[in-house]
Amino acid sequence: MMRRWYVRRPLQETYWRLFQKRFYASWREQRRVRALPLSEIRRLQWQRLKQLLQYAFDHTDFYRQYFASANLSPDQIRGPEDLRRLPLTDKRTYRTHFQRIFSRPAREADPVPCYTSGSSGEPFRFYLDDVTEAAHTTAAFVLNKEAMGIAPWDKINELVLKVAPRNKIDITGGLAPRKKFSLKEMLASEHVGISTSDITPANIGTIAQLIESRNLRGVYGYSSSVFSLARYLSARRCAPRMQYAITIGEGLLQQQRDYISEVFRCPVYRDYSASECMRMGFECRCQKGYHMDLYNYYFECLDGSGHAGDNGAGELVVTNLNNYVFPFIRYRIGDLGEPCHGVCECGIHLPLMRTLHGRPSDIITTPAGKDITVQFFTGFFEYLDQYVRQFQVVQTAPDVLLVRVVPTEQMREGVREHIESEIRSYVQASMTVQVACVDEIALEATGKRRLLVPLPRE
Ligand SMILES: [Zn+2]
Repeated sequence: MMRRWYVRRPLQETYWRLFQKRFYASWREQRRVRALPLSEIRRLQWQRLKQLLQYAFDHTDFYRQYFASANLSPDQIRGPEDLRRLPLTDKRTYRTHFQRIFSRPAREADPVPCYTSGSSGEPFRFYLDDVTEAAHTTAAFVLNKEAMGIAPWDKINELVLKVAPRNKIDITGGLAPRKKFSLKEMLASEHVGISTSDITPANIGTIAQLIESRNLRGVYGYSSSVFSLARYLSARRCAPRMQYAITIGEGLLQQQRDYISEVFRCPVYRDYSASECMRMGFECRCQKGYHMDLYNYYFECLDGSGHAGDNGAGELVVTNLNNYVFPFIRYRIGDLGEPCHGVCECGIHLPLMRTLHGRPSDIITTPAGKDITVQFFTGFFEYLDQYVRQFQVVQTAPDVLLVRVVPTEQMREGVREHIESEIRSYVQASMTVQVACVDEIALEATGKRRLLVPLPRE
């Protein structure tokens, strides 16, 4: 295919320079940094870490006390050994100290909180840093995609499958007519979002029509949603050829990856992200693991006693170097990591890591043939974080769903009924839904909590 990048690239860059200044500056800076030798990248990373530590110490009540508890001040952190003397944080920390972690200058701006329950099923609230973080992670994603062979000036329109995507199109009543000419759409790749809860056998005709009419040739979204979409389109024999698929969120089984690749006749890449730490790692064309983004994050892999593991493998602990509003420092993201040694043939200097995260996406199929994925539940429960600490959904019979919740002190009977009726309507009343309040939900042998448990296959 002849690429018209020599026209598109300058046009694209001009557009960024004029209309997306902060993003453009970050994209140029990160592109420059990625070309540096690894030792130089690490030096910069350490500088950015020190800056964040000092800011958190100066501007949040929580982190001042956090340093005091370790008998340290930020300027005494001179290397990784010193850093390891600071306590680890986890979701419970951010839930308990929510107000005190929120930095004082940001409070005046009154930002909108974000919610997540991620792959752990423990909902909590946090804030993103719209000023620093959004530009950096968006720029990182554009560079990550280039490593997958998808350049921004290639103009590939993308279908985005998320719980509440930006540029969401409501497809439940069929397709609305398009608005007319837009300069932005002519220059840049379009992103068309549909909500994961709209991916149903009933809507699949409309989705196929949307893909054709908007010429969508890339697909990006939660593993289980991309998988379900592939299944439904394939069953209707209307799966289009895509140029790429990128999956985020829960793990992806090799057979699911192969299936998606076969249906869409394209490569499938993984992006390692969490709502509170976007774009931590990405697969390049060589697909040997994730290249970890050392510009935007500081990573540690710790063994059971909190030391760096022997071969470097262990629990992944992350510091988000861009969030000055609600700092995440030495945060136990809930995944295991194992550094891969050696250099990647793609030429990227960022080190490779294999992460063992989430479970491969579990899917429950209702008696009516609808796939239920975990995103509906994580999306649903994150807005109930006041009432629900943890949840798990178990299919106990072909037509019975047991929803286990660990309630907070504020839980009320009305909320339990609300959960029951919302989930029943989601499964189109084809299943009985039982909600049970429990004290605890057991962990799997991997240390993970399984959020969606289908009936064992015969
Ligand atoms: Zn590579």
